[in-house]
Amino acid sequence: MAKLDNIVSLCKRRGFIFPGSDVYGGFAGTWDFGPLGVSLKKKIMDEWWKFFVEDREDMYGIDAAILMNPKTWEASGHTATFADPLVECKECKSRFRADKIADGINESVTTEEFLATHTKCPVCGKESWGPIRKFNMMFMTHVGAVLPDDDQEVAKKGVAYLRPETAQGIFTNYKNIVDTIYPNIPFGLAQQGKAFRNEISPRDFILRDRECTQMEIEYFVDPATWEENFELMRTLHHEFLEDVMGLPKSKIHELEVPAEDRAHYSKRTIDFMFDYPNGEEELMGLAYRTDFDLMNIEKASGKSMAYRDKTTNETFVPHVIEPSIGVERLFLAVLSSAYTEDEIDGEKRTILKLPENLAPFRFCVSPLLKNKPELVEKAHEVYDKLRKKYGNVTWDDSGNIGKRYRKQDEIGTPSCVVVDFDTMSDDTVTVRDRDTTKQTRVKINDL
Ligand SMILES: [Zn+2]
Repeated sequence: MAKLDNIVSLCKRRGFIFPGSDVYGGFAGTWDFGPLGVSLKKKIMDEWWKFFVEDREDMYGIDAAILMNPKTWEASGHTATFADPLVECKECKSRFRADKIADGINESVTTEEFLATHTKCPVCGKESWGPIRKFNMMFMTHVGAVLPDDDQEVAKKGVAYLRPETAQGIFTNYKNIVDTIYPNIPFGLAQQGKAFRNEISPRDFILRDRECTQMEIEYFVDPATWEENFELMRTLHHEFLEDVMGLPKSKIHELEVPAEDRAHYSKRTIDFMFDYPNGEEELMGLAYRTDFDLMNIEKASGKSMAYRDKTTNETFVPHVIEPSIGVERLFLAVLSSAYTEDEIDGEKRTILKLPENLAPFRFCVSPLLKNKPELVEKAHEVYDKLRKKYGNVTWDDSGNIGKRYRKQDEIGTPSCVVVDFDTMSDDTVTVRDRDTTKQTRVKINDL
């Protein structure tokens, strides 16, 4: 099993992921994607979009604004309940999320329950706690011309939040879509975008960060059919994770979330858990949200959210099945499944066995020798040709050929193409396979 530290270090060494604001000493809970990271991330997102939106007749894409009318978060319950239990050490003033430093308690822990766990402060080791306070995780900001010295009343008027989930951007557009596209039910609205959570203690690399990218679908169904549609989404997501993302089936575990742990609006939730290097963690969630969100919007906006069935003419407010994936969580699942260490002829190597559809580069092209102009010129020809055909092709003429292979193994390039002296006479090249290291001779036109 890959160690998280090794993956973090590979990510930095090869330009997948850097700590956010690295040059200024970092900024907790933020990460920046480098050239290879953004390539992998984009491929993951594009495959999702293709699988769930482009290849299906019942899905439509949307892209809503990050800043939304604050009424959104009143109606959705986020202003009141999107909070974690915060506890402060009276000794050293460090603040923690109570349910993350004590065993056997959950997010709704009371002060009494927390004190009964006799947890010691992870920073100073003392056991001297203040009361549990609810800490709202939404990032607050001000919209419009609000000055730092404006009085409280004025300042309050401009308050807005960075969206804590992308879902509400979909729910608030439901009526627009129904009135313009006239979709047949069941239908899904899909969105990819940033969401922000002011985590008390971000940790575990990109698993728990303050800014993340979500891929969410709200699948609107006739309430009488929610169970079969829940099953449909469940099956589709296994297919996507296993066949398109290449995650090993054995590492994905379904967790039926018990009623007391479910979000208040959900009648059924399955968490898809994944065996990450640091243990089992949530990869994605699949929730039956009933008509909770649409009814809240109907009440708060005074606008009807009813849907009229075109064949039966029956009207009802649809219920919703919501599959929600954090891109960074999926990124780390893909990366940690691909991370492999092996030995070739007594030499250790690190290799990313990424599926071809996700590897940042499909091919690496190089001339056997850098100082032979005819080889370099021919290799450039092959490079241009492959780039036109595949797009994601890289060039490498640094160091010796062995070093180039090691580097390409580490960034997951499936095949290295080498132009040598034989190429000049028979138009064949050496193609070296990442996983087996086997080399074969292939006609340039067959690549
Ligand atoms: Zn302390």
